[in-house]
Amino acid sequence: MIVDVHVHLGELGKHFQKWWMDELYRGFPNVPDKNVRYREDPIAGLIEDLDSAGVDVACVMASDHRRPYPYGTGSSYTPNDYVAECVRRHPDRFVGVCNVDPLRDPHEARREMEKCVRDWDMRALKLYPTYDHFDPRDERVFPIYEKVIELEIPVHFHMGYTGTVNAPMKYQFPHLLDEVGIRFPEMKVIVAHMGFPWVDECLCLLMKHRHWYADIAYWGAFPPTFLIEMMKKFDYMCGYHRLLYGSENPWKATFTKTFMGLNRIAEEEGIKFRISDEDLKKILGENARKLYRI
Ligand SMILES: [Zn+2]
Repeated sequence: MIVDVHVHLGELGKHFQKWWMDELYRGFPNVPDKNVRYREDPIAGLIEDLDSAGVDVACVMASDHRRPYPYGTGSSYTPNDYVAECVRRHPDRFVGVCNVDPLRDPHEARREMEKCVRDWDMRALKLYPTYDHFDPRDERVFPIYEKVIELEIPVHFHMGYTGTVNAPMKYQFPHLLDEVGIRFPEMKVIVAHMGFPWVDECLCLLMKHRHWYADIAYWGAFPPTFLIEMMKKFDYMCGYHRLLYGSENPWKATFTKTFMGLNRIAEEEGIKFRISDEDLKKILGENARKLYRI
């Protein structure tokens, strides 16, 4: 089973505007399918992409970025109930991941998380510190962590770079999660993007917090040799049982092929690297299947 743990839902003009996508991916001129989300039926389009990539299940994420964009710029907001409806229509292909803005209305956020998990069977919470302008160490976010622990779901943090201009870099560093892990040792955390470009910080985090995971979403943007070098370190320091396959939308139809061809690519490039089929299976689905109860 192949599981893509990092797919964003949303429809152009309804949940986000064109400028949002343009900013997100402008640093990558060779984005393979930047226009995928402009399709008339984005959900049918997403399923086509999953089919062509051989992905069985996608963890589809909500996002609420209304608070940082209050000036009529057109906010980016894919609500939890929209994600729940997509999962209800395609229960064999999607697993829902909820999102709350921890600083918008903390009491309502906790109620929303309850509803998402208990009524809509969502399996994780996504948080976006840089997009939503908060420090993960901020005590105002602690009630959200307490709720995550109570609901027994993992929390998936976007850490690392984004092309979005109004997303402060000071909230992107993986090390910001260390104090969260010290304070909430029972919380399961997934660090998105390996915290790129602060990959070593992410590795240190995972070496300390031995039950945490990381995903490789966005790495489809880079030459595969970058991925191979990162994976060598990851295996040595953390072990592949804690690495999760994820695409980030523009690479959802293409990244599995790159990923499954890593041994061949390493050979062609003269890099000493070999991953076993067993480890590939863990990263591509086994690890996520256990973590997200799929
Ligand atoms: Zn993402």
